[in-house]
Amino acid sequence: MITRREFIETVSAAAAVPLLRLQNPPAPQDNEWGSPVFDLHHHMRSALAANLAHLDGAGITKANLLTRGAVADQVKAFQAAAPGRFTWFSTYDITKPDAEAALTQAVKDGAQGFGELKFHVAADGPELRRMYALAADLGVPILVHFQEVDHFEGEGKWSTGYATSFEGLLKAYPKTRFIGHADAFWANVSADYHNEAAYPSGPIARGGLTDKLLRDYPNLYGDLAANSGNNAMSRDPSFTSGFLERHQDKLLMGSDCSCPDGRGGGVSQAGNPAAARMAGKCVARETLTLLKKSTSPAVFRKIVWDNVHKLIKID
Ligand SMILES: [Zn+2]
Ligand SMILES: [Zn+2]
Repeated sequence: MITRREFIETVSAAAAVPLLRLQNPPAPQDNEWGSPVFDLHHHMRSALAANLAHLDGAGITKANLLTRGAVADQVKAFQAAAPGRFTWFSTYDITKPDAEAALTQAVKDGAQGFGELKFHVAADGPELRRMYALAADLGVPILVHFQEVDHFEGEGKWSTGYATSFEGLLKAYPKTRFIGHADAFWANVSADYHNEAAYPSGPIARGGLTDKLLRDYPNLYGDLAANSGNNAMSRDPSFTSGFLERHQDKLLMGSDCSCPDGRGGGVSQAGNPAAARMAGKCVARETLTLLKKSTSPAVFRKIVWDNVHKLIKID
């Protein structure tokens, strides 16, 4: 039994809660997406403010800077000026003989992964093979761009042979944690894909290679970045929620967006006329919106925040 006085105290305490919440600054998880967001695929911009403008504009809590060459000092300066906002991956011309030394040094300097690896070589060629082995030795994940169809005349292909050789590589390098990305990785969610288009549209034929590889290989993760990830997750809504559910522990939010403001200003998919559907849009916002409406809040949170914490160390 509750006395009248206890009742009044309980009611007053409850009424005070909203007031307290208003007086305190919002916690990070109270952002517009309902969950903190980590962008795995943010190509580093030269000025700190330009990086923060994209994160803040798109409601992104933290981002992984994809960098190339000797930039450790610059990254450290960014991390000092914006504590807790950035991790980083490193890449280097893997056709050069000093690639292993350069990437080993980057990891010593704090890089937590290789990426993105985007070169005109075969996925099972010697240049990438030595990077898969080195990533396993150093205990860092490796983010690879797979593309078989040019976006413009003369572009050339990147990490070729995904559909024919990648499963063998997953088997050959079981200690390497692969993060799949780009056109061929995502087009192959459909079983009927044969390199006809960079971004195939329409219904997805169930049982595609990427769906099977994510199911069968614990050392494979999927980076949802760019028009490729967005296209695969939006072309057939009847497919999307099941796919996100099946691979809820293996998928990672990424943007690969080059818009300046995190709101779709300027160009979002630079140098890629084939991705015209993203013109005037922020890829991060488009994909976050798509994921949010396609799955439960719990799975959404795993994909945009929790999963990446299993791959790398985040302050
Ligand atoms: Zn890429
Ligand atoms: Zn953007």
